[in-house]
Amino acid sequence: MIRPVPPDFETLAVHAGRTDFHALGVHAPPIDLSSTYPVPDPEQGTASYDAMAAGGTPQGSAIYARLHNPTVARAEQAVAELEGAEACVAFASGMAATTAILLAAAMDGRHVVAVRPLYGGTDHLLESGLLPIDVTFAQPDAVAQAIRPETSLVFVETPANPTLDLLDIEAIVRAAGTVPVVVDSTFATPILQQPLRHGAAMVLHSATKFLGGHGDVVAGVVATSEAWARRLRQVRILTGGILHPLAAFLLLRGLPTLPMRVEHAQRTAGVLVERLAEHPMVTTVHYPGHGLSDPHGLIGSQMAGPGTLVAFEVRGGVEAANALMRALTLITPAVSLGSTDSLIQHPAGLTHRLLDPAVREAEGITDGLLRLSVGLESAEALWRDLSAGLDAAEDVAEHTEGTLAMSSR
Ligand SMILES: *Cc1c(COP(=O)(O)O)cnc(C)c1O
Repeated sequence: MIRPVPPDFETLAVHAGRTDFHALGVHAPPIDLSSTYPVPDPEQGTASYDAMAAGGTPQGSAIYARLHNPTVARAEQAVAELEGAEACVAFASGMAATTAILLAAAMDGRHVVAVRPLYGGTDHLLESGLLPIDVTFAQPDAVAQAIRPETSLVFVETPANPTLDLLDIEAIVRAAGTVPVVVDSTFATPILQQPLRHGAAMVLHSATKFLGGHGDVVAGVVATSEAWARRLRQVRILTGGILHPLAAFLLLRGLPTLPMRVEHAQRTAGVLVERLAEHPMVTTVHYPGHGLSDPHGLIGSQMAGPGTLVAFEVRGGVEAANALMRALTLITPAVSLGSTDSLIQHPAGLTHRLLDPAVREAEGITDGLLRLSVGLESAEALWRDLSAGLDAAEDVAEHTEGTLAMSSR
């Protein structure tokens, strides 16, 4: 299942899922918008239906668009190749993909072990009681103790959102024993990290982020073995979470530039991290490999590079963080990440707002923490914008600190 040598990503990203173009006589992926498909031979139709109901691919007619779509299948093929996976299953969003994974695992047992911090939506879904599962949140070094006979999944995210903490996937896989491990690898992209190579059973991406890459598509993908893919397709048929073919087209359109986008933004992120770390308004910079943030040496082994997301804490808490965001004119204040333009958001106020404040604090999601998704603008233009924001934050922090000093007198 796992490719022995690292693939040539530049070439693979351009050609994966497109190898039949010459034979088809096309130069761009065809978009198939059919909601239903003719079934000229009833017996063949039955056979095809049975194959798909068992989680397989159509034998002849695709029957109905909730069961299978050729444009979606093409995007799945491309992502599978980039992850070095046997198969991939695409969903209407990252959360639809997560839900399908949890439901598919629940067929085996109704207990999941999860390691925080996680994407806010994932954390909230696990806590919500909506799904037929019990969840134990464990520290990375307590995963083995948290496993029960009915544990069917270990769910982790690395780099983590929003603190960019790294987890050692191989250590988690060892701790999980025979229990399959799913890695949300959204922040890393397959260019920087391929969890299946390290023993994960499934790798999840919100393709809304880097894979789509242009801020115009919502999608989720799971790259995995054909055996898991069959179960995920069964869940997808039953719960109706298949990706729309136009979204699959946009996902395919984003993939050829993925290696270049990640490399360019990563280089820029490196420049910004150095400058942020020296700025008097910034108390902490979270960036994989920066300072003491990679004690296990995962950058260079598990991850090919530190990525394009930077989290940093400003002095002065919520007020200073808000002042910084209000002063920006280039960087877009918005949730999401991995787009062509740089985006900044305030996790305590937005994405991780639903978390218990005590959990938030324990996970290092402080009131002054901002998460920057570095886009494709020049480093100088981004730094000019950030400097202006930091100046505005400084005015507020000094005012607040001044007031505090006055009132304590
Ligand atoms: C955005 C995101 C998700 C959820 O994906 P959607 O496409 O928004 O449903 C899951 N995990 C991570 C790390 C994300 O950034």
